[in-house]
Amino acid sequence: MAQHFLLSAASRTLSLRKIYKAGEDAAYRTFCEMRWPETNGEAVCPCCGHDEAYKITTRRKFKCKACHHQFSVTSGTIFASRKMDFVDLLAAICIIVNASKGVSMVQLSRDLDCQYKTAFVLAHKLREAMAQEVQTGEVLTDHVEIDGAYFGGHIRPANAKADRVDRRLKENQTGKRRVVVALREREGRTLPFVTMSEAEGVALANENVDRMATISADEASHWDLLHAGWDVDRVNHSEIYSDHGKHTNMVESFFSRLRRMVEGQHHHVSPQYLYQYANHAAWLEDNRRTDNGTLAQIVVSNAMSAPVSRQWKGYWQRAA
Ligand SMILES: [Zn+2]
Repeated sequence: MAQHFLLSAASRTLSLRKIYKAGEDAAYRTFCEMRWPETNGEAVCPCCGHDEAYKITTRRKFKCKACHHQFSVTSGTIFASRKMDFVDLLAAICIIVNASKGVSMVQLSRDLDCQYKTAFVLAHKLREAMAQEVQTGEVLTDHVEIDGAYFGGHIRPANAKADRVDRRLKENQTGKRRVVVALREREGRTLPFVTMSEAEGVALANENVDRMATISADEASHWDLLHAGWDVDRVNHSEIYSDHGKHTNMVESFFSRLRRMVEGQHHHVSPQYLYQYANHAAWLEDNRRTDNGTLAQIVVSNAMSAPVSRQWKGYWQRAA
């Protein structure tokens, strides 16, 4: 039997030992090379595009020879105003890409010896960088599987039976329950969305699935509307999970990863940020056969080309 990819040496091309042995200067050079790949890591002014700058080495800053603008390697990127050392930043990225079901923020803060808040915001910024590869705006083609899964809004039954409420009734619900609707090419990308009901998936399919594609869905009646636009395979899960190639197993395995991430690592996620976790799980799913060195490179290079995060920059400094 062939060896599983994750057990092979080819899947391990980066380690914490390598990162810390190479040290802070090497980590800094990595960030420069990812930010300015076209000049091999030589600074390019973000203001005027001039490629000659004075180096203020003591502060790791640059001053443009043309317009005198001062900038650093992270100016204008997701990591703007970072305080963490570059070597720790690289280590954080390594830890996060190694965690195939995500990693809890308490655990990351212990590994890096930083505050919980620092780890929390850093991980969310990295999820933004991953989301760039997931939410590309391109339509899905060939064979697409669609399904939805509920997350959050669990109501804990009261201790005594007499105090328990009917959890099915709307007035007893928390309003925090969301549905992740995912569309997944059988041999390609995964595209998740967060909605209030699974039926909203029909509109999402209209926007995101190529008209020449074919679709697989389960027996839920709101998917009947898909037949108007595409050739749709249906599989009735109360009778069978996979019927001669008719199945939604690929999209189910995405949900399985997301559920293990949310329940096993984070334990609680806010409905407001559920889409970030969904993008993270989709990115992991789509890159499951990529070695960890390449994964870290993808994340750093996306982060260096992503604009300053409006949602996460100064998150904890913000007034409540
Ligand atoms: Zn300039």
